[in-house]
Parts: sequence; structure tokens; C-alpha cells
Amino acid sequence: MNNIDIAVIGGGINGSSTALHLAKNGLKVCVIDKDSICRGASGVNAGTLTMHMTRAKLIPFAKKGWELWMNTEKWLSNNIDVKKKNGLCLAFTEEEEKLLNERSQIRKEYGADINIISKSEALKIDPNINNKIKCAAFCEMDGYVSANQTGDAYTKALKENNVEIVENFEVSKINNLNNNYEIIDLHGGKINAKKIVLAAGVYLEKILKLVDINIKIKCFPQQLIVTERMPELLKTVITVAHGKLSLKQFENGTVLIGGGWPGKGNIENGYNETIPENLIGNMRLACHAIPNLKNSRVSRVWLGLEAETDDAMPIIGELPNLKNAFIIGSIHSGYTSGPYMGKLLSEKILGNDVDLSLFDIRRLMN
Ligand SMILES: Cc1cc2nc3c(=O)[nH]c(=O)nc-3n(C[C@H](O)[C@H](O)[C@H](O)COP(=O)(O)OP(=O)(O)OC[C@H]3O[C@@H](n4cnc5c(N)ncnc54)[C@H](O)[C@@H]3O)c2cc1C
Repeated sequence: MNNIDIAVIGGGINGSSTALHLAKNGLKVCVIDKDSICRGASGVNAGTLTMHMTRAKLIPFAKKGWELWMNTEKWLSNNIDVKKKNGLCLAFTEEEEKLLNERSQIRKEYGADINIISKSEALKIDPNINNKIKCAAFCEMDGYVSANQTGDAYTKALKENNVEIVENFEVSKINNLNNNYEIIDLHGGKINAKKIVLAAGVYLEKILKLVDINIKIKCFPQQLIVTERMPELLKTVITVAHGKLSLKQFENGTVLIGGGWPGKGNIENGYNETIPENLIGNMRLACHAIPNLKNSRVSRVWLGLEAETDDAMPIIGELPNLKNAFIIGSIHSGYTSGPYMGKLLSEKILGNDVDLSLFDIRRLMN
């Protein structure tokens, strides 16, 4: 493969979004993945597009991401299910009420249109929620995407924009030659490109070592649960004040239960396993929030690996001491803001004036 302007290593939501915007601006781009496009965290996540669970400092970026998701026909394709819903974050105790007030206020200061509403207002919006709530936070900017459709939608869009997709290519070496990078996989395959973007998700720590940068990326294996189809049960996307629950009902009636309950897993051999007590804890909390959920049966559980830096903030921008090398990843609520973060990085690569200082990797390097 010759004359590649930019090779993006890692075809999750961040790498694929970066690649797509670069290609739309006329560059010759290739996306390299050790598996397939958006089959890592970006294909197995809960797909919630919410301000209630997003870190306050990232709200402005998540809002832009949410807007892009609501208009996929303009830049991605229309073959991915995106639903706009109202979001309700519930508080059941006085302590949670206090927490919800504080957290909503901070998110509001960063631009989220979140308002505290009374128990009766919340029950009017979504009658199936537990009537023992104290109050709720309401936000119109919420919704979800069927994350398992991400890979097909991005693959189609990347191909339509002439991006070369190289799958089953596990990058194991990166040689920095004169004005050129040589990217080598486990089997000796080679790809040359003038610039590189590292977008390897939870594998970023490993891939950064290939260019002599050492930082810690934490790996969180998280479980998700989906129920059988149910009659209409939820009108909104539900979260709770302490953040350990996310709930939504898809058009087909199934309910997706998440909230970051840990399972077991690692990046060394891709092994993962559920922790049954945590599945039960997650389901108990879901049934507490929506009592009628007790009538449903679980149809499937699965895990995904989430990446986090030491300060839980993203890394996006140029890599230090290397010419023409960039990074994107470890973004909290990364599926919500991914399309926008990728666009931002592409603007930076194109030479536009973009302030990414908040996400500079140097803060994490000794
Ligand atoms: C269970 C779970 C639920 C979540 N729920 C939500 C949610 O509801 N809302 C939300 O906003 N966010 C959610 N997230 C977070 C979100 O999914 C992630 O922030 C986002 O998908 C990360 O995207 P990424 O492109 O950085 O990484 P990934 O999607 O992991 O992509 C990285 C890619 O790099 C490839 N790669 C790695 N190493 C190599 C190599 N050596 N050579 C070639 N390719 C390589 C991998 O195969 C992978 O495809 C959730 C995460 C998990 C795990």
C-alpha cells in the first residue's frame, strides 16, 4: 500500500471518526485494525448518549458529539439506529438528592441543560419509575444508539470516502524513518504512511511503547445485560445519582442494563468473564429503579474493556518528540463524544487552530 498520507491505527469510534473527516478533506487515509472496524469497546458499549453520566469538563464535547449522532445522515449514513430520548437521573435517598443537586449544578455550569424536577413531574414523564424517588434530574439532550451497528455504518462510510480498511493487522512495530512511518504487523506485513494516528483504545499503553512513550492506561472490564422483549416499560433513558445504573428500552422491546459494573478481563489474551454477584447487583438496582422490570428475563450478558488515564481525562493531540504522530483515546463517555473528538483531531492534523491543551499527553508523562 503506497502514498498513504495518514495511517490510523485502531478502528474504533475515535480512529474511524478521525479517518472519516480526514478523508472527507481530501487526504489518502487508511485505517488499520487488529480485528474489525468498531468491534472493540465501540461495538459492544451501552450506546447511551447522555449528559447525566459525562464528566463535567467534557460536557461541551459530549454536546457536540450528541448533535453529530442526531444527524448521522449528514456525515455517516442513515443505517444506524439513533434515538433521541429524554434522560432522567433518579435520587432515592436524601444523600442521593444532595449528590444529584451538586452534580447537576456542576454539569449545568459546563453547559448541560439539566434541571431538577419533583417526584410527581418525573412520574408524569415516565410512569414506570419507582414512586419512592425523592426527585430526578431531567435533560432533553439524551438518547441512545444501537452500538452493535457502529461497525457496519462506519465501514460503509469509510469505503464511500475511499479510506483503505486493513483488518486483522495487529501492529507490533512502528519504524520512524525519514518523513515516513513504517508500520509492521505480527506477520511481517508492512504499511508506509507520512503520518500516524494512534487510536488503539484500551491497547494504547501497549502501542505507545512502540514509539518509546510510557504512560499508564487502566483497563476496566465492564458487564452489560439485555432482557427479553417487554411491552413498553420506559419512555426515557434512566440513570441514578451515584452513577451505577443506565437503562434504556430499544424499539424491539429489549431493555439494556448497564452502569459500569465490573467483570473480569485483560488485554493480554482477550480473556473475559462475568462476575455473577455484580450481574445480580446491577439487576437489583435496575429493578429498584423500574419495579416492573422484575417481570422480565435476562436474554444475554457480555463484557467490554474501557480505557482510562490516571486523571480520567482523554489524550488527544500531537505526540511529543515525534513528527507527524498523533493520538486519540481514553475519553470518558467516549461513544457519545467520539464523532466530535475525531473531527477535532482531524482539524488539528489539517493544520487548523484547535485548542487541545486540556488533553495533552505530556501531563501523564514523567
Ligand atoms: C461495556 C461498556 C459500556 C460503555 N457504555 C458507554 C455508553 O453508554 N456511552 C458512552 O458514551 N460510552 C460508553 N462506553 C465507552 C466507549 O465505548 C468508549 O469510550 C469508546 O468506544 C472508545 O473508543 P476507541 O475508539 O477509543 O476504542 P475502541 O473502540 O476500543 O477501538 C480501538 C481499536 O484499536 C484496535 N487495536 C488495538 N490494538 C491494536 C493493534 N496493535 N493493531 C491494530 N489495531 C489495534 C482494536 O482492535 C480496536 O478496534 C462504554 C464502554 C464499555 C466497555
